[in-house]
Amino acid sequence: MTGGKDCAVCKIVGVLVGIGALNWGLVGIFGIDVVEKLLGQMTGPSRVVYGLIGIAGLLKLLSLVKCCPCQKGTCETKK
Ligand SMILES: [Zn+2]
Repeated sequence: MTGGKDCAVCKIVGVLVGIGALNWGLVGIFGIDVVEKLLGQMTGPSRVVYGLIGIAGLLKLLSLVKCCPCQKGTCETKK
């Protein structure tokens, strides 16, 4: 997250993971599920949001072992 030249995918993934983490934090601390509050419990839209956050989390984890091409030169992976 340095240099400010992340590609669109990296930005979207970062935002979604951030939203997901915040939502889980609110669930844990206050018992408030913002996604559920906004979109309803397990409705179509809320499931899409949960799904997207899950996929973003997966991509984020993958980025720990495999750098996105946009991070070339700044991202170091173990070889
Ligand atoms: Zn990228």
